[in-house]
Amino acid sequence: MFIDGKWVDARSGKTFDVTNPATGEVLGSVPAGGSEDAVAAIDAAHASFSEWSNTTAYERSRLLYRAWELMTERSEALAELMTVEQGKPLKASRAEVKYAADFLIWFAEEAKRVTGEWLPSQRPDQRFLSVKAPVGVVAAITPWNYPISMLTRKMGPALAAGCTLVLKPAEATPLCAKATYEVFVDAGIPDGVINLVTAVDPAPVGEVFTSDPRVAKLTFTGSTAVGRVLAAKSAANLKRISVELGGHAPFIVFPDADPVHAAKGAAALKFLNAGQACISPNRLYVPTSLRSAFEETLCSRVEKLRTGNGMDEGVGVGPLINDLAVAKVERQVEDAREKGAGVPVGGVRLLEDGYASGHFFAPTVLTDVREDMTIYREETFGPIAPVIAYDDPDEVIELANDTNYGLAAYIYTRDIAVAMRAFEGLRFGIIGVNDVNPTSASVPFGGMGDSGLGREGGHEGISEYLETKTGGFAI
Ligand code: ADP
Repeated sequence: MFIDGKWVDARSGKTFDVTNPATGEVLGSVPAGGSEDAVAAIDAAHASFSEWSNTTAYERSRLLYRAWELMTERSEALAELMTVEQGKPLKASRAEVKYAADFLIWFAEEAKRVTGEWLPSQRPDQRFLSVKAPVGVVAAITPWNYPISMLTRKMGPALAAGCTLVLKPAEATPLCAKATYEVFVDAGIPDGVINLVTAVDPAPVGEVFTSDPRVAKLTFTGSTAVGRVLAAKSAANLKRISVELGGHAPFIVFPDADPVHAAKGAAALKFLNAGQACISPNRLYVPTSLRSAFEETLCSRVEKLRTGNGMDEGVGVGPLINDLAVAKVERQVEDAREKGAGVPVGGVRLLEDGYASGHFFAPTVLTDVREDMTIYREETFGPIAPVIAYDDPDEVIELANDTNYGLAAYIYTRDIAVAMRAFEGLRFGIIGVNDVNPTSASVPFGGMGDSGLGREGGHEGISEYLETKTGGFAI
């Protein structure tokens, strides 16, 4: 753990092992932090806030820029660590490290774009000034599926704004968090400003983060169930919150679209990170008229995907994070099968040689998926592409909106009017129009409804870490 500028053990002396999800091999062990460690981390972040928040925006920008340089220099080592710890194919890990670094350079620039306003008064002897101030100590909790970029997406804007922070990474990926912290430390972030508490049992640390009065804000990325609990606790203590939660993205192919092109897009997008992404398409709505062409291309692409250890050349789909994740996907596929879905590709856990010690599930296509199947409503988080046939393009937006999750949606059409109407009608925070990657450090990321509160990235990303201060000056 990293507290007040030092790498330290847990107060309890306990540790926990980190394993490779592709092989089961133990990669190392890290401190099993608890509430006392969380308090110590907050002590440090609180003590360093005054000095850090009074550094110039130029200085904070310079440090973030240096962190971007270091992360870029170390990108190959970081990507390899990510693949062995989290499982995604090396190529995808490289892309994530690039995305993670993008947040550093983006917020290095945004640090210098925080400005105020000079506002009119009705009194001639008065002047009004409105400025932005950092909110204070930020507590961050991050997930395992994007174990480096989810840190920089929070740490970049928090540091740029002048906040100090304490962070608890997911128990599956603390080594990536440690390596990310090393980047910041080597870039010269002063002692106490960033603190890392690793924990195998997240609850006691979460309890401290949401109740300690010195924490001004909680930023969380993870499941809706946990986010809801942490948001409620934070609200009781009047902390600011931003929570980026689950998703259940629709992927709508309109009747005028090219079904082959759309199916290629679906195959490329769905199996990224073995489907373990909150913006992964989970409901593929395809018009009956295009169904056979779409399914044919999708199946032939999915059949060609190679599943295996992400370090091996040519592997397109890695393992799932753990056995529970495999069991969830297995249950969803079984339920769909029992209720009449077709399973033209995959549908099974991979247990033969080479797969036995990891958590592998075959890339799967489900056809004839209907509303009464669990997978229709529940977030999937696995390599399963459920295809739903529809007939009425006027109704498909309603079907797509019929979810509590409002994170990402995708549409395929060649008609600008159809695209615009769908863009306007879909109640989702991120919409890809013939585009399988509608994300970037430069644009807001976040969802509506049960998918969360607040936005990360873009110009808005830094505002989550700032509050407004108004001055009335009698002159
Ligand atoms: P997932 O199902 O994707 O693992 P979680 O919401 O369980 O999603 O995990 C996301 C993050 O939330 C992880 O860092 C995890 O340790 C943390 N977390 C889970 N439960 C709690 C809790 N009760 N208090 C604080 N953090 C928690």
